[in-house]
Amino acid sequence: MTRSKTMFAAAKKYIPGGVNSPVRACRSVGCDPVFIERAEGGSVYDVDGKKYIDMVCSWGPMIAGHTHPDVIAALEATMKNGTSFGAPTPLEIDLAKMVVEAVPSIEKVRFVNSGTEATMSAIRLARGYTGKRCVVKFDGCYHGHADSFLVKAGSGVATLAIPGSPGVPEDIVKNTISIPYNNIDILEQTLTNDALDIACVIVEPVAGNMGCIPPGDGFLQALRKLTAERGILLIFDEVITGFRLAYGGAQEYYGVMPDLTCLGKIIGGGLPVGAYGGKAEIMNHIAPDGPVYQAGTLSGNPLAMSAGIATLKLLQRNTFYSDLDKKAAEVENGLQEAVKRIGIDVQLNRVGSLMTAFFTDQRVFDFDSAMTSDTDRYARYYRSMLRSGVYIAPSQFEVFFLSAAHSSDDIENVIKMSEDSFSELVER
Ligand SMILES: *Cc1c(COP(=O)(O)O)cnc(C)c1O
Repeated sequence: MTRSKTMFAAAKKYIPGGVNSPVRACRSVGCDPVFIERAEGGSVYDVDGKKYIDMVCSWGPMIAGHTHPDVIAALEATMKNGTSFGAPTPLEIDLAKMVVEAVPSIEKVRFVNSGTEATMSAIRLARGYTGKRCVVKFDGCYHGHADSFLVKAGSGVATLAIPGSPGVPEDIVKNTISIPYNNIDILEQTLTNDALDIACVIVEPVAGNMGCIPPGDGFLQALRKLTAERGILLIFDEVITGFRLAYGGAQEYYGVMPDLTCLGKIIGGGLPVGAYGGKAEIMNHIAPDGPVYQAGTLSGNPLAMSAGIATLKLLQRNTFYSDLDKKAAEVENGLQEAVKRIGIDVQLNRVGSLMTAFFTDQRVFDFDSAMTSDTDRYARYYRSMLRSGVYIAPSQFEVFFLSAAHSSDDIENVIKMSEDSFSELVER
């Protein structure tokens, strides 16, 4: 009996499903979760002392690697002065200034405690600002677990194959319209229907919660044009892509500017943070300047701010993103060669350091095509990688995250272990 198994049994006694976020329970990959004790650089270590190359990176935040000395030092220095005051602090200005300077479309930013809070607040602001009702989202995109977004959502909702969620009133969901990703015709039909009373469109500019799906040619541009023509706000949910694809996020990477941007994950450097920002004229509608209410006891928390500031500083190095991209390209090329050599049906989608190996023979460009993946095969791949010491997401509908701390040995190992696992899979 491993310590992980004993702990999982104990956790299940006190915590629903033994976990505080559903995908962590590893049900869709048919095994029990390993419990993590510590991490360093590009690796995590479980409670039984086994080391894994970490391709989850806490689902994105650890882009600079775990326990980076600069981040730890910043946290230690801040902690000594107290951990929360519920009052304005200097660190909030520092991080806000960094975000405004980094993200092209953000003039003002409000910090919250999670990505869920950021998206929830952004659509409230969009509705308050426009005076309109409906929210348009895309099938398979995930925007946190607020009621309005639990319609054909990605991430755990897709992994567990649940269409929506009990507990979300029909009255709320009827104000959310979910349409296929990367389909400009349906987008146009929807946005030009004035009867729908659309306040905003929210999108992951690169979908990362149904696996990695890049925006097709002209998709983001069409989205920008159609929303601008109709007075509909465009919200980029950059909780994953912000500071991941480029220092200025997907909007810098693709050169398309939204009205509002949601951030999370990386900007907290591993502590709980979210943020939403945009044009000052829109952001000024938030209380206390405007009537749209939003608040938070721990918002702008000094520890979270310092981890964020220290992390963003690491990303300012000139070659940070090109180095990371080079590493990711090595993984992609290595896997691609393995796929060819072994003749397994796998589609590799990659944008920057986000990547997914879909176990299907179809091109994956939206939720339906992602759903053609053989999730049993992914489950076997997951278990084989875990045995070999590579920690990947316990779901086909998530991405591999790379960090600056992954070494060339790590990359070689990921490729080699994947190739071994692919051969096992085709032999069955
Ligand atoms: C993770 C995620 C969220 C939710 O963030 P939490 O901090 O988990 O609440 C929202 N949007 C996207 C795109 C995400 O990947």
